[in-house]
Amino acid sequence: MAFEPLHQRKLAAGIWIIFCRRQATPGLCGYHFGVDPMRYEEVSDWAHTYNRVGKEHHRGVAYERFKEEKAQVLLRLIGDRFPLIPANVKRYYTSTPLTNRDYIGDAEGSMYGIQKDYRDPLQTMISPRTKIPNLFLTGQNLNLHGILGTSLSAVLTCITLTGDESLLDRIREV
Ligand SMILES: Cc1cc2nc3c(=O)[nH]c(=O)nc-3n(C[C@H](O)[C@H](O)[C@H](O)COP(=O)(O)OP(=O)(O)OC[C@H]3O[C@@H](n4cnc5c(N)ncnc54)[C@H](O)[C@@H]3O)c2cc1C
Repeated sequence: MAFEPLHQRKLAAGIWIIFCRRQATPGLCGYHFGVDPMRYEEVSDWAHTYNRVGKEHHRGVAYERFKEEKAQVLLRLIGDRFPLIPANVKRYYTSTPLTNRDYIGDAEGSMYGIQKDYRDPLQTMISPRTKIPNLFLTGQNLNLHGILGTSLSAVLTCITLTGDESLLDRIREV
């Protein structure tokens, strides 16, 4: 399958920027965090490598070059929208689906777990209850992804585990 090269994509393809304030630099952004979708296939040449703190492995010069090219494209895209940013970046760090895979254990380094279909969400919903007594599941793969989805899954798992359906009401009261 052929993928549209990142440099040909429009900014609206999904870049997501988070600005973080740092106490030491009041009024200035301490760091920012830019995310753009990347397919696992783009890093499949290095899929056999594994690198995380405690189990370091250099993925090689070609991988570093690949990441550097992505970083430059991303900075250009950010600069299209926020022209002052690129020239003022002092340091940057890039990560790919391989980084996610090696740190969080997701098979293809997905940020948001298993692929869901908004047109048919029930199709991929997983119950917290399993066939094994006293073994319960939780996390983003159950129903919704992200921090909110994971928290909702946790509540659902707690209710399933304790059988206490008043939990939601008690959370609302807090
Ligand atoms: C770079 C990045 C940025 C993100 N930013 C946001 C954001 O701004 N807002 C937002 O809503 N969501 C964000 N997300 C998504 C969010 O982090 C996830 O939706 C959420 O963490 C999922 O929670 P979870 O508990 O289901 O899984 P995880 O947080 O992935 O926890 C799973 C845990 O299981 C461990 N594990 C995996 N396999 C094994 C194994 N075999 N043995 C033992 N332990 C294992 C992992 O190490 C990990 O600690 C981001 C994700 C990434 C990768």
